Amino acid sequence: MRWAPDLITSSEAWTTTRAALTPPALTAWLRARGHAAYRTAQILAWAYRRGVATFGEMSNLPQDLREDLAAHFTLPTLKPLLVAHAADDTRKLLLPLDARAAVEAVLIPDPPRLTLCISSQAGCGMGCEFCATARLGLLRNLSATEIVGQVLAARALLRADERISNIVFMGMGEPLANYAAVLEAIEMLTAEWGVAISAHRITVSTVGLVPQMERLVRETNVNLAVSLVATTDAQRARLMPINRRYPLEALLAMCRALPIPQRQRITFEYVMLAGINDSDEDATRLVRLVHGIRAKVNLIPFNPFPGAAFAASSPEVIQRFQEHLLVHGVHATIRQSRGRDIQAACGQLALAHAPWRTGPVTGNVPAPRPSLARGWSARRRAARH
Ligand code: SAH
Repeated sequence: MRWAPDLITSSEAWTTTRAALTPPALTAWLRARGHAAYRTAQILAWAYRRGVATFGEMSNLPQDLREDLAAHFTLPTLKPLLVAHAADDTRKLLLPLDARAAVEAVLIPDPPRLTLCISSQAGCGMGCEFCATARLGLLRNLSATEIVGQVLAARALLRADERISNIVFMGMGEPLANYAAVLEAIEMLTAEWGVAISAHRITVSTVGLVPQMERLVRETNVNLAVSLVATTDAQRARLMPINRRYPLEALLAMCRALPIPQRQRITFEYVMLAGINDSDEDATRLVRLVHGIRAKVNLIPFNPFPGAAFAASSPEVIQRFQEHLLVHGVHATIRQSRGRDIQAACGQLALAHAPWRTGPVTGNVPAPRPSLARGWSARRRAARH
């Protein structure tokens, strides 16, 4: 990793007006210009397998074709401005999208897994009370190319013995509020011509946008995770405004009706907030809510962030809650918090806009202001090799 002073001017990936690199778009475009069909496979291999940053690097293509491609298509590459490296080897990438917005992606080693947590929106419009990203509001949707760009940027940082095994849409944003781009990104990630990761190794997490959940299960084979977080409508509506549109009954009725394949389960994420949703009564209600659903409950200790009005439930309370679920036959796990020292843990991703900019955009990117770039300084040297 190095600082990237040429960030704004040189990257071909920064405009959203050019087309995404997909076989139909590419084939039609090549044909219209009289190029041979085999160029499609060559270009896709450069873009997704090699992950080159510019069309200029596609050395087996004629020069004029490379230039023509660059004017019409966007490569799925993003360049990290910064990489923060946590003591537990979690790595957080700050990925600028344009002059105003950036997203974060987090690499989480958990051998034998290496999970990449990616963002679907810069900021988020869902307004969940306990989430740092919500404080930003929605800045903008990501394109499919930008979503996949996070994966290629993370892949480029891996050590020789590492391989991304799982991808979770649990970073910034509500993936199902950016449905078309997320669907297209899943296609690019799973296709043989693309990143070629199995859909079974991809999980999309949602606040519970009921109609889009149904579409996702119908149109893809990815895993579904639902942020449940509360066990009564009153409590959930206070924590997650979306509950006013899709209350618990509608949400769980949809979960019950979804044609989830036999060997899959729906994950219910449950952020443990001290004194709010962690009582025995909550555990009892949760057992009842997920009854009849092939479910897995993932208990997430609340990760604090500045200005948050909540505290994490104690480890003892979380364990007691888990035992309550297990005793009643509900599959339940506790999520280990990772990367907290670099603000990379669940709900802590909040650097979606460009606070490091102090003046008008010039093509140079000033260094982050320390007060706003929490988490980025600690091991910057380590990330710069
Ligand atoms: N919008 C999607 C995906 C992003 S959030 C969703 O809500 O599911 C990913 C997970 O992090 C969600 O389960 C969310 O409830 C959880 N989360 C948000 N803020 C958190 C925090 N401060 N501490 C722990 N988990 C949090």
